[in-house]
Amino acid sequence: MSTWLVTGGAGFIGGNFVLDAVGLGVKVVNLDALTYAGNLDTLAALDGDPAHVFVQGDIGDADLVARLLREHRPDAVINFAAESHVDRSIDGPAAFMQTNVVGTLALLEQVRDYWKSLDTSERDAFRFLHVSTDEVYGSLGDTGRFTEDTPYAPNSPYSASKAASDHLVRAFHHTYGLPVLTTNCSNNYGPYQFPEKLIPLVIAKALAGEPLPVYGDGLNVRDWLYVGDHCAAIRRVLEGGRIGETYNVGGDAERANITVVETICRLLDDRSPLPDGSARESLVTYVRDRPGHDRRYAIDASKLHDELGWSPMVTFDEGMARTVDWYLDNAPWVQRVLDGSYRLERIGGVA
Ligand code: NAD
Repeated sequence: MSTWLVTGGAGFIGGNFVLDAVGLGVKVVNLDALTYAGNLDTLAALDGDPAHVFVQGDIGDADLVARLLREHRPDAVINFAAESHVDRSIDGPAAFMQTNVVGTLALLEQVRDYWKSLDTSERDAFRFLHVSTDEVYGSLGDTGRFTEDTPYAPNSPYSASKAASDHLVRAFHHTYGLPVLTTNCSNNYGPYQFPEKLIPLVIAKALAGEPLPVYGDGLNVRDWLYVGDHCAAIRRVLEGGRIGETYNVGGDAERANITVVETICRLLDDRSPLPDGSARESLVTYVRDRPGHDRRYAIDASKLHDELGWSPMVTFDEGMARTVDWYLDNAPWVQRVLDGSYRLERIGGVA
């Protein structure tokens, strides 16, 4: 049985990844600080399962990380832990530098020391996989797509902190020989996403019949990927990726923000019409744009496809329908998140 140390496994993508991994027979040690974005409810299905060991703690806590590595002897470390919301990084960049840069560095140092202590066959099999974002590449015009060779040009404090962490991961391979892999993925959506991000935010507001805030002219384009496909891509890279390489992960599903919002409106109108029968699209309200808002992201994932045979399995329409259905069926999960500190307020507009 493989053992993986997963960091940030109580968050959106990490939580989906942990649920899938345990389902596939992997033992997971899950280190998560349980910031506002971490939620143990997501992992409720694993309560009492000996294949899931949850530890509340910080990736920057060197003693704790060293102890977990020593005690559980993982074959791989997968690093999801991060501050992840661009708007929050505009209001308060320091927390992003602390976790995404300083925290990742501390984690890398402990993992390097652990890896060096392994015997030769264990050392050869070990992998450190760093989960990153396409936002490190900056913004595109109307054409072109990001490849693994696109120069880094991060535009927000969030993407700058992720870019810095990617560079540290790369440096730990080149300097110390640590067997690292990096994935740079496009925008994810699906079950268990914290309702400050576009899709769950719009679902929550549209269900409540509230105005649907759309930044700027609504024409910013993102490449959307269903979270289960991202998790499968990470497992593929972990199994077969070439050490030291980066792999772009994308859904080949570019959509303007306004199209995403309209899709949600139509799905909800079908499933749960408003009491007065009005179309939810009429709730769309254009609001002042996010400062420095990147115009377009698009991923060329052909390296991952050609080398490792990965393709997304879930189309945008199928994934959006699944996601809307999940939020309709899991109102208590959303309600418990909203009972916490976050109340769907606007953040990130201060610059
Ligand atoms: P998230 O904000 O939902 O989850 C982050 C998790 O990390 C939370 O559970 C939080 O408690 C935990 N965490 C934060 N600081 C920590 C620390 N110092 N120590 C330990 N745990 C800590 O984020 P997400 O959307 O699931 O993203 C996960 C990773 O994937 C991030 O690294 C992000 O940059 C990357 N990514 C996200 C997307 C996306 O669309 N959401 C796309 C590409 C890449």
